[in-house]
Amino acid sequence: MTAQRSNDQLTQWDHDHFFHPSTHLGQFARREVGNRIVQTAEGVHITDREGRSSLDAFAGLYCVNVGYGRPEIAEAIAEQARELAYYHSYVGHGTEASIALSRMIAERAPEGLNHVYYGMSGSDANETNIKLVWYYNNILGRPEKKKIISRWRGYHGSGLMTGSLTGLELFHKKFDLPLSQVIHTEAPYYFRREDRALSEAAFSAECAEKLEALIQREGPDTIAAFIGEPVLGTGGIVPPPEGYWDAIQKVLRKHDILLIADEVVTGFGRLGTMMGSDHYGLKPDLITIAKGLTSAYAPLSGSIVSDRMWEVLERGTDEFGAIGHGWTYSAHPIGAAAGVANLKLLDSLDLVSNAGEVGGYLNRAMAEALGDHANVGEIRGEGMLCAVELVKDRDDRVFFEAADKVAPRIVAKMLDLGVIARAMPQGDIIGFAPPFSLTHAQAEEVVAATKAAVADVLG
Ligand code: PLP
Repeated sequence: MTAQRSNDQLTQWDHDHFFHPSTHLGQFARREVGNRIVQTAEGVHITDREGRSSLDAFAGLYCVNVGYGRPEIAEAIAEQARELAYYHSYVGHGTEASIALSRMIAERAPEGLNHVYYGMSGSDANETNIKLVWYYNNILGRPEKKKIISRWRGYHGSGLMTGSLTGLELFHKKFDLPLSQVIHTEAPYYFRREDRALSEAAFSAECAEKLEALIQREGPDTIAAFIGEPVLGTGGIVPPPEGYWDAIQKVLRKHDILLIADEVVTGFGRLGTMMGSDHYGLKPDLITIAKGLTSAYAPLSGSIVSDRMWEVLERGTDEFGAIGHGWTYSAHPIGAAAGVANLKLLDSLDLVSNAGEVGGYLNRAMAEALGDHANVGEIRGEGMLCAVELVKDRDDRVFFEAADKVAPRIVAKMLDLGVIARAMPQGDIIGFAPPFSLTHAQAEEVVAATKAAVADVLG
C-alpha cells in the first residue's frame, strides 16, 4: 500500500483509537512503549514505515511458516476474491478450495482423522472442539462426563472456554477465569521440576501419576477430555520429557478420556515433521489447526475430527437434527484458497524438511554460543522452535524476579540489533520460531544477535 498519511498522524490515531491485543494499555497511552507500523515484508524480514527492517525470528506469532511475500498465495487469494469472495458452508455448501483443502488436510493428518470443521482462529477451533466433546458424550448417554483437563502453561486461546484452558496466570487474572468445567494438571516442564534429582523418565511418570490422582479425585466418569500441545508453546517452548506422551495416553485410555492435540503451532511442519502428533506418537481424537494451515496469509483454523467421534456425531444428528454450531466465516473461500496454495508451497519447496534441518542447526548453534553463559539455565527446542531460559543462578536454578524484566530487555536489545525474538509471557524465556525458509546464514545472524543482547543485559 502506498503511504498516504504521515507517520505522526497514524501514531496519533493509533493511540486515540486502536485497542491493541496483549498490550499494556497504560504504558501504551503514556507512550512508554512505542508503536510500530509495519509496511512490507519479504522472506524472513519485515519492514516498517520508518524504513527499519528486522529479521523476524518468530514468524509473526509462529505463523508465517512459508515466509513473507509469497506471490503464489497472494495470487490464489486474489483469484478467489475475484471469482467468489464469499459464500457460506452451511447445509452442504462449499467451494472447490474448501473441498480440496479438506482432502489435503486429511491426507496430512494422522491415520483415522478424516473430517475437518473450519473456523477463523485457534481459539474458536478449540471452542468447537469442546462443544464436540460435550455433544459426543451427550449422544453416548453420559451427560456427567464433561470436565476438561488442561495443563498449567498450556496455551489454547483467549476466549471464555479457551482462555480457561490456557494455563497462564495473565489470561485468567481479573477475567473471572477459568470456568468451572476446566481443571489444570502439571506442566511437562522438566527444567522447572520440583525434585531436581528426578530423571526425565521419572518426571514423566510423575506427571502421569499426578494426572491419575486428579482424575480419581474428580471422578473418572466426570472427565471428558484432555487437551495439550505436543510441545508446550506460549507457556515456554518446552518439548515433552522422555516418555511423557506414552505415559499420559495410557492414563487417558484407561478412563476413556478423549485426547485433543492442539497443533496450532506444531501442525504442518514446525517440528520438521508434518504433524506433531506423528512426531511424538499421539493418537488424538481431535486436532486443532490454525496458523500453519495458511501461514497466516488469511485467517483460517480447523478441528480435525476422528472417524470414531464422527460416527457418534452422525448418529447424533439422526436422532436430534442438524448440529447447532456454525460460523458465518467457516471455510471462508479466501482462507481456503490460501490454505491450498500454502500447503502446495510447503511441499514444492520441501519446507518441512528445511524446518527440521535448519531448525536443528539453529538449536545447536544457540547451544554452542550461549550454553556456557552463567545466566543461561537451559537451551531447548525441536525443529524450528528454540528457547533460551535465563536464570539468576545456574547452579541453584534461581530465577530472576519478573520485575527485573530480563527477557523483555534482551528482546528489546535484539530488536535494536535487527532481530525479532519473543519474550515468552511467563518466566525469562526468549523464544524463537522463525519461518521454515530460514537459511543457515540467517540462523547464525539470530544466534549472534541473541549472544550480543544477552551480553549487553547480563554481562
Ligand atoms: N492454540 C495454540 C497452541 C496457540 O499457540 C494459539 C495461539 O497462539 C491458539 C491456540 C489460539 O489461536 P488464535 O490466537 O488464532 O486464537
